[in-house]
Amino acid sequence: MSVLEIKDLHVAIDDKEILKGVNLVMKTGEIHAIMGPNGTGKSTLSAAIMGNPNYEVTQGEILFDGKNILDLEVDERARLGLFLAMQYPSEIPGISNAEFMRAAMNARRGEDDKISVMQFLKKLDKKMELLNMPEEMAERYLNEGFSGGEKKRNEILQLLMIEPTFAILDEIDSGLDIDALKVVSRGINEMRGENFGALIITHYQRLLNYIVPDVVHIMMEGRVVLTGDADLARRLEAEGYAGISAELGIEY
Ligand code: ADP
Ligand code: MG
Ligand code: MG
Repeated sequence: MSVLEIKDLHVAIDDKEILKGVNLVMKTGEIHAIMGPNGTGKSTLSAAIMGNPNYEVTQGEILFDGKNILDLEVDERARLGLFLAMQYPSEIPGISNAEFMRAAMNARRGEDDKISVMQFLKKLDKKMELLNMPEEMAERYLNEGFSGGEKKRNEILQLLMIEPTFAILDEIDSGLDIDALKVVSRGINEMRGENFGALIITHYQRLLNYIVPDVVHIMMEGRVVLTGDADLARRLEAEGYAGISAELGIEY
């Protein structure tokens, strides 16, 4: 079992404090969801976990199996088993989708355990079929000209190929029609198991009907203010943030 622990995390962008003491513990085998109003710092949290250098950690720790990873670069964190599906995946012209995934898989597996081309293609075929993705998408440049929905589906393909220990999925459901939402959920549920944990950032309870979370966190004003089970997401859907913020005495 692996553990990812966020302890009293403070993060600033351009000297403005965005995260004001986030605490969160997740273990493999669990699916966590984070919900929270716009601008509350959800994407900032995911960027800080992954090690984006534009986000300055001013206080606190991020521990992966007890080891502080704050000094590690993005690629080192990826090799350790962290994966981020960004809210707005970037286009990388000049590198094909398949090349990118194979490089990422091999970086994670190490020099002595590289995946063979045959094994890679076999796995790719299987995962693309699961996600109803046309074969030609593997050979296209990474995210270039992909529609919003195709980008999201492609993030899940990367997830299934790279098989990280912990995945952070930032608004993986935004802009998806109902069929695509089901496909994306199927992909995430396929990863469920004792060697995998996920942190799903979403605005909508709808996604959580397909991927039932073990733990739900509400984030407001740069902090996790409430943690509960799947019922918390349903309550939020019914009451909105107003009810919860009034109850907790938070102004937002
Ligand atoms: P969420 O994902 O919860 O909607 P974000 O983490 O994207 O929130 O943003 C939190 C706050 O940080 C917002 O006020 C946003 O304007 C600000 N912010 C995020 N990224 C940047 C950036 N690169 N430069 C300046 N401010 C930023
Ligand atoms: Mg947002
Ligand atoms: Mg966001």
